[in-house]
Amino acid sequence: MLKNAPMSPPLPSIDSFAAAKLAEIRARGLYRTIRPTVRHADGTVTREGRRLISFSCNDYLNLAHHPEVKARARAAIDTYGAGAGASRLITGNHPLLDALESRLAALKGAEAAAVFGSGYLANLGIIPCFAGPGDLILMDEYCHACLFAGARISGAEVMTFRHNDMDHLAALLAEHRQSFRHALILTDGVFSMDGDLAPLDEMAPLARRFDAWLMTDDAHGVGVLGRDGRGSSFMGPDKADVPLQMGTLSKAMGSYGGYLCASRTVIEYVKNRARSLIFTTGLPPASVAASIAALDVIANDPALRGEPLRKARLFADALGLPQPQSPIVPVIVGAPDAALQAAAALEERGFLVVAIRPPTVPEGTARLRVTFTAAHQDQDVLRLAEAVRALGLPRPAP
Ligand SMILES: *Cc1c(COP(=O)(O)O)cnc(C)c1O
Repeated sequence: MLKNAPMSPPLPSIDSFAAAKLAEIRARGLYRTIRPTVRHADGTVTREGRRLISFSCNDYLNLAHHPEVKARARAAIDTYGAGAGASRLITGNHPLLDALESRLAALKGAEAAAVFGSGYLANLGIIPCFAGPGDLILMDEYCHACLFAGARISGAEVMTFRHNDMDHLAALLAEHRQSFRHALILTDGVFSMDGDLAPLDEMAPLARRFDAWLMTDDAHGVGVLGRDGRGSSFMGPDKADVPLQMGTLSKAMGSYGGYLCASRTVIEYVKNRARSLIFTTGLPPASVAASIAALDVIANDPALRGEPLRKARLFADALGLPQPQSPIVPVIVGAPDAALQAAAALEERGFLVVAIRPPTVPEGTARLRVTFTAAHQDQDVLRLAEAVRALGLPRPAP
């Protein structure tokens, strides 16, 4: 017992610190709440007792509730248990993980794959394997937050190029490449907040020319875009020349986990080096089994794979928005408060559409991020477009 403890202690400094930070976040219109929500098989959700049609989920093919996916996840629990027990390097390589890695490598046209705990963990682990102090990372300014996180912890010099601006990337490479030992270029294959694609057909040759290694984050591409749902490297007749294809199992696959597909040697090195693979517990068997089942569904159902993009186009056409390249359609609102109000108004009308604010997107571009899934009914897509129009959106470009 402390002898001189004060009778009524002041607010602990950590609480006053947190309270002041929260006040600052609120004042900037950036306060976030996480609301209790249940997702259903038909693409609707229950929130505060109300049923809403969700247009804010990345489960593009609704596989999280697919009967076959759920059955195989259940069977994996019965056979292998609920958890992995330890890191893969300690308790060993689960047979389901080997199977999943082979399937992912085949899907991505790569020799091998490494599965991680999540997409975020994958990027935290992979990037420092290929860039460190004395190396250069060039990344698109709109890259996902976890690519920035991985780049920062790598200790490499980090430069951003203007979104999808290949002239800017080429200029940075011409000016800086020679001053660094290795160079790594990072981009989303499909940009998560804008839904547009990286120009890999230009970027890959540029990377080769400057002896830089190209890594794509295909979180939003796999399963829904490209030949046979193989993602953003497969938009053209030939596979794009991308030596490091990263992605997540948490979106179109409907499950959880992240991965890298690359050459056999690169994967062997990553499994020896990536700290977020070595020092963390392996994925639960159910998640792995669900991902394998999801890959089967994706392989066997071409019509299903095309549905999310078809619905995105239906929505964009109805509002006169540019032709979407992916199932993600941004409706730019501008100010954070206005985006929140628009989302609340849509919720009143039975639609769940998430408002995305800075720092997730650049200042002044707070938006509704509308995502489409295979389960959406065309008439609901059109009703949503009507409701968006009734809010005076999309605003004419400034
Ligand atoms: C969602 C997302 C991630 C993170 O993947 P998780 O599996 O959810 O951790 C990484 N990159 C991009 C582009 C994403 O959209």
